[in-house]
Amino acid sequence: MSDTLFLDIMAGKIPADIVFENDQVIGFRDINPQAPHHVLFVPRERIPTINDIQPEQAALIGELFLAAACYARELGVDSRGYRVVMNCNEAAGQTVFHIHLHFLAGRNFQWPPG
Ligand code: AMP
Repeated sequence: MSDTLFLDIMAGKIPADIVFENDQVIGFRDINPQAPHHVLFVPRERIPTINDIQPEQAALIGELFLAAACYARELGVDSRGYRVVMNCNEAAGQTVFHIHLHFLAGRNFQWPPG
């Protein structure tokens, strides 16, 4: 998977079903959904993994969660619940090295995750 895939989506070079946008974050539907609602919230600035987040980017990371909560309210799933996940590196299954918060909703989720 290309490391610039999400930059290409933001640039309009690769089509995506965009459901959320502000000046710092974009949200689009995952191409391989794992729940009835599966959206990726991605910072416009490319940070490869959680390990690369710098202290000055803390507010940007907060924007990902604010975007997810805003979208949950829009969908009307905020009270029932939803899951957000960010994978880091190979053992967690990260395949795109531009951090992204998975937003999953519309079904019940198990714990612990697989
Ligand atoms: P991760 O495995 O945590 O790095 O998540 C990467 C996600 O990107 C996977 O859930 C993929 O299904 C998703 N994905 C890959 N290519 C695209 C694409 N072109 N548009 C939307 N989602 C994609």
